[in-house]
Amino acid sequence: MMEVRTIHAFDDNYIWLIGCQGRPEVAIVDPGDADPVIARLEQDGLKPVAILITHHHGDHTGGIAELLARYPIPVYGPAQERIRQLSHPLKEGDVVELAGCGLRLSVLDTPGHTRGHICYMGEGALFCGDTLFAAGCGRLFEGSAEQMHRSLEKIRALPDQTLVYCAHEYTEANLRFACIAEANNPDTLARRDEVAHLRRQGQDTVPSLLGREKLTNPFLRSHIPSLQQAAEAWVGHALHNPVEVFATVRNWKDALD
Ligand code: ZN
Ligand code: FE
Repeated sequence: MMEVRTIHAFDDNYIWLIGCQGRPEVAIVDPGDADPVIARLEQDGLKPVAILITHHHGDHTGGIAELLARYPIPVYGPAQERIRQLSHPLKEGDVVELAGCGLRLSVLDTPGHTRGHICYMGEGALFCGDTLFAAGCGRLFEGSAEQMHRSLEKIRALPDQTLVYCAHEYTEANLRFACIAEANNPDTLARRDEVAHLRRQGQDTVPSLLGREKLTNPFLRSHIPSLQQAAEAWVGHALHNPVEVFATVRNWKDALD
């Protein structure tokens, strides 16, 4: 049985420790900062066996060097990006097996936020970095809207029960936008209230269920006619396909941020 531990870093980053129940071996996902990771490893008596990177941004990679100075472990990450300490470049279809517990994670190519962004999928969990967020998605820094849309469609094809472990706690702000884009979506309105309540109590809203994302995350819903109409009203002209709707909804959110 997979067990995932949550580490908070910086203002709103999540670093995930993936392991197997009852075993000390863990993989560290996107260690932007080494200090909170080392503290947690020591506190819980864990043995790091790998670092898994989703993309090259500093808030996901900044702690690698310090961790490697302590723990000589392999660093997995996207083959398409330059990450200095990478020992095992990965691409779609590759599988990472965690030493000790035998857990297997397969790799999805999900370009868009960055050119080479990858996600890790296994045991009903998706570690998706800055591609999909709870009720949102990553900004298009290096890829096109078409690439990001294709990446998100790949994620949307996964089972509803998939747990989404994204890399930031952005959910409350994302839902503020989702309720503007889909003012008549009851699932979105209900989720906004639920998340506001959780955040007031200082609780995390990640991981989330992919099924819930499919109902409430506007960036997984470009094919929904009412969202298309709202995007057309915002941009002031007709949109002809889900990619255009996605690009418009992304621009709409960027314009409000
Ligand atoms: Zn990023
Ligand atoms: Fe990030």
